[in-house]
Amino acid sequence: MKDDVIPFNRPPLVGTELQNIKACFDNWHTSGDGAFTKRAAAILKQITGAPEVLLTTSCTDALEMTSILLDIEPGDEVIVPSFTFVSTINAYVLRGAKPVFIDVRPDTLNFDEAQLEATITEKTKAIVPVHYAGVACEMDTILDVAQRHDVPVIEDNAHGLFGSYKGRPLGSLGVMATQSFHETKNISCGEGGALLINDSRYKQRAEIIREKGTNRSRFFRGEVDKYTWVDVGSSFLISDILAAALTAQLEAADAIQAKRKAVWHRYRDELNDWGDSVGVQFPTIPDECEQAYHMFYMLLPSAEAQDGFIKHMRANGVQTVFHYLPLHLSDMGRQFGGSEGDCPVTEDVTQRLVRLPFYFDLSDDAQTKVIAASQKFEA
Ligand SMILES: *Cc1c(COP(=O)(O)O)cnc(C)c1O
Repeated sequence: MKDDVIPFNRPPLVGTELQNIKACFDNWHTSGDGAFTKRAAAILKQITGAPEVLLTTSCTDALEMTSILLDIEPGDEVIVPSFTFVSTINAYVLRGAKPVFIDVRPDTLNFDEAQLEATITEKTKAIVPVHYAGVACEMDTILDVAQRHDVPVIEDNAHGLFGSYKGRPLGSLGVMATQSFHETKNISCGEGGALLINDSRYKQRAEIIREKGTNRSRFFRGEVDKYTWVDVGSSFLISDILAAALTAQLEAADAIQAKRKAVWHRYRDELNDWGDSVGVQFPTIPDECEQAYHMFYMLLPSAEAQDGFIKHMRANGVQTVFHYLPLHLSDMGRQFGGSEGDCPVTEDVTQRLVRLPFYFDLSDDAQTKVIAASQKFEA
């Protein structure tokens, strides 16, 4: 990208990452589950209230771990929003599950809880809501329906770290939750993730699955004399080098979140009048939700306006982007029977949504430029 273009995203850098990474090498521990992995997991427990946190190589991998832990088998059904990242469902499809796509609500663009019950069948093995943009889904309803049908809820909380629902932290509400530390997320180490375990039934097996199917973690705690192959598994541990960078950012989380909050509210305040004049729908944050300040998006009045806005901003030196394409209409989604009209809200909002530059070191001047350029756009 040209130097003078304001990018949509830049990975956060708080300044202490490199000294932590150096400490990893100084301590001769660069593989998984070293001192930084433990520090980062302890901080994540504090933030989310999850009793058990396992750092992983990505959110995708944490989702794959949940798929193994839930014993997903060919023919099982997993309910996800169509408006999400591919990993939310791929983790289950990889083990033979059939995706069941549900539409999103037109206000929060979250998993539509009102449609949940009708999609549950005897084959439903998991419900995976996504807290879009870090704003909580209507979790009481989702958890109530899930409980009545005895189906586990996994929160894909890639956007939602630091968010809450009725005072309860996101990531603490499902039996398990997954986090992402990809460079586009609030807290990042390039590629990384975590599995949060709220239901202790999954704890012991999760440790084994993450350690290539061995009881190595128990061996390190002195609970067994030798470690051996006890279950299926894979390599889901993050290197302590990456955990070192992650720890630096988690320890600076207050500064990162304060900045993101300020940027979000400045966009919201200063774009309000222009938005009203061109018919923009701004994000809805229900009263019971504390948002995670993961993104700033707007719904423009039409698909033409989305296209026009992105081009207009590019001509003004600002990169803006659309977001998820409906999964039920993707090549894979169609193979599972997805077709036009299945999720009308998703099909509509995907054509109207734009996201503005939103990152930790976005300067005041750059934000001023983004706002001024937006205000020059007439739908
Ligand atoms: C980013 C993201 C993921 C994937 O995260 P990775 O860490 O890149 O695997 C999954 N779900 C959602 C909703 C995401 O935004």
